Amino acid sequence: MVSNPNNTQAMLAWLKDREGDMLALLERIVNIDSGSYNKAGVDKVGAELRAFLEGEGIETQIIPVEGHGDSVRAMVAAGSGQSNRPIMLLGHRDTVFPDGEAARRPFQIKDGRAYGPGVADMKAGLVMNAFVLAAFRKFGGAPGPLVGLFTGDEEIGSPTSRPIIENEARQARLVFNSEPGRASGNVVTGRKGGIFFVAEVDGVAAHSGGAFEKGRSAIEEMARKILAWHKLTDPNAGITVNVGLVSGGQSVNTVAPHARCEIDVRYVNPEDRGGILENIEAIALTCSVPDTTGRVSIKGEFKPLAQSAASQSVFEHYVANAKDVGLSIDGEFTGGCADSGFTAGVGTPTLCATGPVGGNAHSPEEYLEVASIVPRAQALVLAIARADKLGV
Ligand SMILES: [Zn+2]
Repeated sequence: MVSNPNNTQAMLAWLKDREGDMLALLERIVNIDSGSYNKAGVDKVGAELRAFLEGEGIETQIIPVEGHGDSVRAMVAAGSGQSNRPIMLLGHRDTVFPDGEAARRPFQIKDGRAYGPGVADMKAGLVMNAFVLAAFRKFGGAPGPLVGLFTGDEEIGSPTSRPIIENEARQARLVFNSEPGRASGNVVTGRKGGIFFVAEVDGVAAHSGGAFEKGRSAIEEMARKILAWHKLTDPNAGITVNVGLVSGGQSVNTVAPHARCEIDVRYVNPEDRGGILENIEAIALTCSVPDTTGRVSIKGEFKPLAQSAASQSVFEHYVANAKDVGLSIDGEFTGGCADSGFTAGVGTPTLCATGPVGGNAHSPEEYLEVASIVPRAQALVLAIARADKLGV
């Protein structure tokens, strides 16, 4: 089937009548606890999405991972554009919320807003992607194969799904990541990179009353390091360093033999990463309290979403198509990280936050603007159907 205006009009009309179906699927998956460490729950959300997709005649496959939710991959073949590289629709099924949250705060709609754990970040985006795939499956008109990837561990830096995302993105022509649209309705054209470190210091234990001079305090050494790390913060360069967790020691009357902390570093420019790593490591390894030793390792990482010329043209293309369904959308920069940094990092033009509009993510006040689901899906359908206009 070729991309023609009749296909796209049929898709827009079909989506217009699907708000109730979208909300029903959204309610089912919001009411499943799916924190990043709850593999069973994240996989259950995947099973719901697969059941919907397969019911629409879309083939899905599971890419298994250990410890976190499996990746679910859905594929819609194109007609005439089959030789084109795929267009990728990306989203994560995990949330930041603990088990029991869905029972405490089940899905509900009040005054045009939907609430519940992960309702905007980003279960609504998953539902939207699934219905967009279904629309193309039903009416044709995709200018190439469509790949939907539904991953399971984004909120902790995608430790297991990152290689799956990067592998898929390398083969893709462009990527739409359906993180929630900003409260303003805007999409995200730039994100900071983030590196999460674990640092440890070993000292020498001693009784702090009877043998103080024999002790070597790992906590004192860690405290000096924390000050040094925080000094690496450079607001003008967009670099921030935050030690967000600290622990250590054995008892109040023991010179601390051990200390541990976790560091969150954010940065804007991809070329700053090397220097940041060097500085963090130099501080970790250089100890000023005698006989203490330090070490540091990377626990998780997000690449920055930097705006390439190709990503800029995808953004402009999306904005123009969103306008055709009555949406007025601009681009925003955010310090928050997402999987879009990985897809942009392998060089694939990427647009982030194309999902339905919401706010207050990661908090009990998280909400979704219900009325945004259909038009955001329609905007994405148009941007995909007309992707050949892009030179990518
Ligand atoms: Zn998210």
